[in-house]
Amino acid sequence: MSASVKLCSRLAVITGGGSGIGRAVCQRFAQEGASVVIADVNEDSANDTLKLLSHNNEDHKHSAFIVDVTSKQSVEQLFSQIQLRYFRPPCISVSAAGITQDEFLIKLEEDAFDKVLQVNLKGTFLVTQTLAKALISSGLSKGSIINIGSIVGKVGNLGQTNYAASKAGVEGLTKTAAKELGRYGIRCNCVLPGFILTPMLEKVPQKVLEKFAGMVPLGRLGQASDVADACVFLASNESQYITGVSLEVTGGLFTG
Ligand code: NAD
Repeated sequence: MSASVKLCSRLAVITGGGSGIGRAVCQRFAQEGASVVIADVNEDSANDTLKLLSHNNEDHKHSAFIVDVTSKQSVEQLFSQIQLRYFRPPCISVSAAGITQDEFLIKLEEDAFDKVLQVNLKGTFLVTQTLAKALISSGLSKGSIINIGSIVGKVGNLGQTNYAASKAGVEGLTKTAAKELGRYGIRCNCVLPGFILTPMLEKVPQKVLEKFAGMVPLGRLGQASDVADACVFLASNESQYITGVSLEVTGGLFTG
C-alpha cells in the first residue's frame, strides 16, 4: 500500500504536543508526511512525543521545543527557533495547549479563572497572531490555523465556568481571524471535541465519565486519534474551501 501523503512537505507546529490530543495530532501529521514541530511547556513530554515519531524521523525533520503559550515573548521565541531551523514559518498550526481548573461558579477563585483564560484563550490568540504575521510577511499564500475549542464552550458544563468561557472565546477569536485572514489565503477553523480520553480527563470521576459515555449517540467516549483525524482534514487540501467553521468531534453528544 502506498504511504498516505495528505500533508507532504508541510511544516506544522502543534502546541500541547506533549500529551493527549496534541500528541495524537503530531503522530497523525507525521504519518501524513508533514514535518512536525512539537511545542509544549513540558519539555520532557515534548521530547517523549518526538521519540514516538522517531521511527520516521531518519532525516530529523521533526523537532521539539519548549514554549509557554501564555507569554508573548515565549511564543515569538518559538517561531524564531522554527525559522532558524527550517528557514520558513509553519503553514499549519494546531493550538492544543490547554488546562482545566474546575470549580463551581460560586466557589471559583479569581486566580483559577485567570489561569485558564491565559492558557486556553490568550495562548491561542498569541499563536494565531504570531503565525499569521509570519505567514503574511513571508509571502506564503496558504496557511491553515486550527484551534482546539470544546463543545463545552457551546453548551456549558457544571464546574467549568472558566473553561467554557475560554473555549467560547476560542471560537469567536477563530471565526474573526477567518474573516480577517481569508484575503491572505490563511484558513482558520476550530475543532470542538466532546469528551476525549486523555490525561485531562483523569481528574473527572469514573462515574461521571460513564454517565457521559451513556449519553453519546455513537456509544463511547472519544479517542485523541478521533480529534487528530479531524485536524488532518482541516490542515489538508481536502478542506481548502472551508474557513471559519467549528467542527464538532463529539460522537454526536450535544449536537443540534
Ligand atoms: P492534556 O492535558 O493531555 O494535554 C494538554 C497539553 O498542553 C499538555 O502537554 C500540557 O503540558 C500543555 N500545556 C499546558 N499549558 C501550557 C502552556 N502554558 N504552554 C504550552 N503548553 C501547555 O489535554 P488534552 O485532553 O490533550 O487537551 C488538548 C486540548 O483539547 C486542550 O485545549 C483541551 O482544552 C481540549 N479539549 C480536550 C477535551 C478532552 O475531553 N480531553 C475535550 C475538549 C477539548
